Amino acid sequence: MASLQLEIVTPDQIVLSRQVEYVGAPGIEGEFGVLPEHVPFISGLAVGCLYYKADSKTRYVFVSGGFAEVSDNTVTVLAECAEEAEHIDFARAERAFNRATERIAHKGSDVSLPRAEFALRRATYRLSLKNRG
Ligand code: ATP
Repeated sequence: MASLQLEIVTPDQIVLSRQVEYVGAPGIEGEFGVLPEHVPFISGLAVGCLYYKADSKTRYVFVSGGFAEVSDNTVTVLAECAEEAEHIDFARAERAFNRATERIAHKGSDVSLPRAEFALRRATYRLSLKNRG
């Protein structure tokens, strides 16, 4: 069976570049999975958790927006932010979660609700990867 190359890139860095067996990603129209020999495909990415299987293990990566392209047995993810589970600062995510929750609860006139909800979503997905690193 052909193998699959996974590349995850953000504006700041190459987060990951490795051979994998399977990729599951949060597309804007729902999660999609990629095995070797997948047809060419492109999708926007939602905020969420991407996972991949390699060496009989499943690993998780938080991603926030961007898009994914599948072509020639390579999955290229260009994300605004991406963090492997083991690199997430959970104390920071918890602070972001509390800040966003407070903003949403108090709905001050200076608070943008969509912005606070988006921040809450990012923090919630990051926290969901605790113990998954
Ligand atoms: P914060 O309010 O803590 O900055 P945020 O959700 O607003 O959180 P983002 O805009 O999603 O942060 O990300 C800004 C940068 O900080 C990105 O490079 C992202 O990878 C990094 N980052 C944000 N939160 C974390 C975290 N908990 N652990 C590791 N890196 C993080």
